Amino acid sequence: MHSADRPHKSLDGDVAVVGLGAMGSAALWRLASRRADVVGFERFEPGHDRGSSHGESKVIRPAYYGEPYVELLEAVVPLWKQLERETSANLLTVTGGLLITHAGSGLFASMLEHARQRNLEHEVLDAVRLRRRYPQHRIEDTDVAIYEVSAGLIRPEVCVRAAVARAVQMGARVKTNCRVEAIEDTGEGVRIRTSDGWLRFRHAVISAGSWLAQLVPGLPVPLQIERQVLAWFRPNDVAMFSMERFPVFVCEIAPGQTRYGFPTLDGQTIKLAVHHEGSITSSDTIDRDVSESDVRPIEDFVRQALPDVEPHAIRTQVCMYTNTPGERFLIGSPVGRPAVTILGVCSGHGFKFAPVAGEIAADLALDGRTRFDLSAFVVS
Ligand SMILES: Cc1cc2nc3c(=O)[nH]c(=O)nc-3n(C[C@H](O)[C@H](O)[C@H](O)COP(=O)(O)OP(=O)(O)OC[C@H]3O[C@@H](n4cnc5c(N)ncnc54)[C@H](O)[C@@H]3O)c2cc1C
Repeated sequence: MHSADRPHKSLDGDVAVVGLGAMGSAALWRLASRRADVVGFERFEPGHDRGSSHGESKVIRPAYYGEPYVELLEAVVPLWKQLERETSANLLTVTGGLLITHAGSGLFASMLEHARQRNLEHEVLDAVRLRRRYPQHRIEDTDVAIYEVSAGLIRPEVCVRAAVARAVQMGARVKTNCRVEAIEDTGEGVRIRTSDGWLRFRHAVISAGSWLAQLVPGLPVPLQIERQVLAWFRPNDVAMFSMERFPVFVCEIAPGQTRYGFPTLDGQTIKLAVHHEGSITSSDTIDRDVSESDVRPIEDFVRQALPDVEPHAIRTQVCMYTNTPGERFLIGSPVGRPAVTILGVCSGHGFKFAPVAGEIAADLALDGRTRFDLSAFVVS
């Protein structure tokens, strides 16, 4: 690849992928698997902890809200398994998943409906059975839960690195520590300004996560960057929190207020977090230092709900949600920009969809269309 401040006709590659987090790394993998001449750009290193695709574990669960996600979910597990086979990496572990809430919860009702409609293997547990099966949780008499058999966890940093490594093995080129400064249409494709100068491609997939609005001005919906804090805690008897005994869980403590957590992955600690309720910030000014007030809601949850866990965070991380109205994804070409595909699979619930999002990006970049219904995710 050569720098090109001077005008020239030849291309520096067929497709550029800008940003190699969950989405970009998956797009790079799917494009390389179709023998596309693809170049990935990443301002940091794949698997870094300054975007959204880090934090040791992410939840994958199939009893999902809303029609637009159903066909994506059905397609995604085979792709995760394919990436595991191709890289011999341990990406996804089925642990089962619990939604713990109280009788009368709307979230419970909608999840149960999805599980039933789609014949997903699940159980409804009352307080007595919950206490017997999961003594790690403090259960109130009015609590109920849905246990989803095929829910589990995905290892985000491992996934991103595996997808990039596999793409490179199949011929993709990757520029790390390289910030893309601008992406312009040329009529025949795009030109991309990096610290190495201008580079030309037929098509660009823009998967810049929380930085998307900087690279694509005039998005049709506002993006809100929400700061999220993850915290790790030490259980008294870590064996009780193994993947076999302690499923991933979401706990609704009040309507619209949820906490979630994972079994131990390091044999010492478990990770817990609050879903949403974070401060609104920006991708460049976000406070990456974690204060006592940041971890207080998680520590309070430990005190209330997990009696055998020490209620003091021993490690923390900061992560960003990129929220859109309705938490919908942004996938497709902006109006009048057919050489650009936006891949914004976000709003705090996108990780599980990464390989299918990558597949869709490869469809759009190479064929201009996809078999997946994107009508809920329009960007124009
Ligand atoms: C705390 C937390 C918990 C979550 N839990 C779950 C969960 O349990 N289940 C789930 O499915 N999802 C979950 N998510 C959401 C999921 O992680 C995100 O939807 C997903 O990681 C977004 O990936 P991305 O590739 O769009 O963004 P990112 O991971 O931010 O990747 C974008 C990449 O683009 C790069 N970049 C940006 N600008 C440029 C530029 N100008 N030039 C070059 N490179 C650039 C960045 O460095 C970054 O690597 C969670 C998110 C957080 C923060």
